[in-house]
Amino acid sequence: MSYAKVLCVGLVGVTGHVVEVEADLAPGLPGVVISGLPDTALHEARDRVRAAIVNSGQKWPNRRITLNLLPATLPKYGSAFDLAIAAAVLGGSGELPLLPLEGTVVLGELGLDGTVRPVRGVLPMVAAAARAGFPRVVVPIGNAPEAAVIPGVRIRAVDTLHRLVAFVRDGTPLLPPPTAAPAAAAEGPDLAEVAGQRLGRRALEVAAAGGHHLALLGPPGAGKTMLAERLPSILPELDDAAALEVTALHSIAGLLPPGGRLLRRPPFQAPHHTATVPSLVGGGSGLARPGAVSLAHRGVLFLDEAPEFSKGALEALRQPLESGWVRVARTRGGAEYPARTQLVLAANPCPCAKPSGDADCECTPLARRRYLGRLSGPLLDRVDVQVRLLPVRAAELLETGPPSESSTVVAARVAAARRAAVDRWAAVDRWAAVGRKVNAEIPGPYLRRAPWRLPERDTRELRKRLDAGSLSARGFDRVIRLAWTIADLDGRDRPDGGDIAEAIQLRTGEGT
Ligand SMILES: [Zn+2]
Repeated sequence: MSYAKVLCVGLVGVTGHVVEVEADLAPGLPGVVISGLPDTALHEARDRVRAAIVNSGQKWPNRRITLNLLPATLPKYGSAFDLAIAAAVLGGSGELPLLPLEGTVVLGELGLDGTVRPVRGVLPMVAAAARAGFPRVVVPIGNAPEAAVIPGVRIRAVDTLHRLVAFVRDGTPLLPPPTAAPAAAAEGPDLAEVAGQRLGRRALEVAAAGGHHLALLGPPGAGKTMLAERLPSILPELDDAAALEVTALHSIAGLLPPGGRLLRRPPFQAPHHTATVPSLVGGGSGLARPGAVSLAHRGVLFLDEAPEFSKGALEALRQPLESGWVRVARTRGGAEYPARTQLVLAANPCPCAKPSGDADCECTPLARRRYLGRLSGPLLDRVDVQVRLLPVRAAELLETGPPSESSTVVAARVAAARRAAVDRWAAVDRWAAVGRKVNAEIPGPYLRRAPWRLPERDTRELRKRLDAGSLSARGFDRVIRLAWTIADLDGRDRPDGGDIAEAIQLRTGEGT
């Protein structure tokens, strides 16, 4: 027998595709040819696999070896094919009867000494194997916990090529995946720790309930970061599908916490303002790493000191925020990662950033305008809630009133408001069906038409502002959208004049 085939999985974006690794050994000049759109890492695989086979005490066949990865049209990145290639070569040479691996997907990178190393993206790879009807997967021991997250798949782990060879040849059992540690209680910052901050807390709650992007403007010490970090704590837990997406993205980035569990909390990403464009939107050689905007998928992307980000960085975020997807350019084919995230921007009102706020500001009016102007075009336009926070005063911290509400209490209101919105949009329309479930995702023109059009008496103030030019048409829509969220939070069927007045405040930062 001079031909063998082993199954593996290649990733395109977050989607895995089962790949057949074929090896054909023919007489002739010894050498290795790899076909099937391999990237550089796959060419390097040839050398790694050869060394690993020899250093595992196996014989490297001195023949002409053709390796083919099918389907050929699928771009293939990364080192996860190593182990399958090694098995196919040994199978093709007749050294190893591959029957025990029939229908089994084999994943793993090889070290030169024959150790099997963990690879990025095992979770979506195992999911793909299961979907394609291959419920037996061999993974590197370092990836076993995350592989075991996928239900209905029999996971076996290997630490060395030798272990795989011993299993195939003699039936020596492979390693079982470690049993998952019990889920730790949700920990993290809690809103109970935020004293005072009536406006900031309200803005956070409204943003959470309607899925609205949020801008927190205010001097240092106004609690902007404290509030932003607590947004995930009042968002609903991720459902199964969302949790799988989020966990897959973190798996591809190689950033899954140990223990092997689905990520159930909405993620929180806070890239520094010196972050590069690839670190924000994704990139890198081999299997592209998702950027912060994708790691914040179904969670929160927090840009602290947002005006300090480079123009290119802010510009690069615009398209993903608009479409919910980011396309990472590759030399061959592109990778697309989901990036449906809730944006929180924090900014000082001006470049001097005096803790006391405007009182001691030394900036010229022009400098102040320019500073926030850096955000206006690309990002601020998309931000529904924009509030100005004042420095927290000592008196507020020492207040002896009732303690601040905890995240659990606020999260319950947020969940109820979200349910009300889902019911409304699902009952009459197709929005829920296309995945638009929160008010922030409902198009403005739609809300201006019957039956959603609000009575003239309630929108008078808004229309006045529109005519006077102090509010843009887009701003008008955003206020209306916010008013719906406020009504949902307060348990009313439709927004009233009071809701619109509060929405204007949350949109413009006025009256605070
Ligand atoms: Zn200033």
